[in-house]
Amino acid sequence: MKRRALLAMGLLLLAPAAWAQGTCPPTRADMEGPFYKPDAPRREATGKGLSVAGAVKAAGSCAPLPGSRVEWWQANPRGEYDDAHRGSQIAGAEGRYQIATDTPPPYSGRPAHIHFKVFAPGYRALTTQLYPRAGQTAVTFDLVLIKE
Ligand code: FE
Repeated sequence: MKRRALLAMGLLLLAPAAWAQGTCPPTRADMEGPFYKPDAPRREATGKGLSVAGAVKAAGSCAPLPGSRVEWWQANPRGEYDDAHRGSQIAGAEGRYQIATDTPPPYSGRPAHIHFKVFAPGYRALTTQLYPRAGQTAVTFDLVLIKE
């Protein structure tokens, strides 16, 4: 018990130091779900109304990862997955990507979400989800990868 308390205290002391150095914490992984299909076509948009933009970066160093491949897929406005709502992009300078898409609806008891997969040589592939809030039209979503 005592040791556990000391460990917790140590973590509390260390955590702010890590933040102060500006480390980029890795993006939390999230379930892939049953609707992923590889090789999504290159696209700028899979709809309109919601803009999602951000940068692909390395955890820790925050180094941008240009050339990363970003894939996304989501339900259409009727709540069904279709080929019109899957796409991919290659991150540009500074690791930037930007997509326009339809606002996904909540379905099957799940909150509205967009699935993402990100690949960069030398980094662990990331599978995650973005949860836009109702009424949001622009979201910043950085994708932070862990080195292999
Ligand atoms: Fe889903």
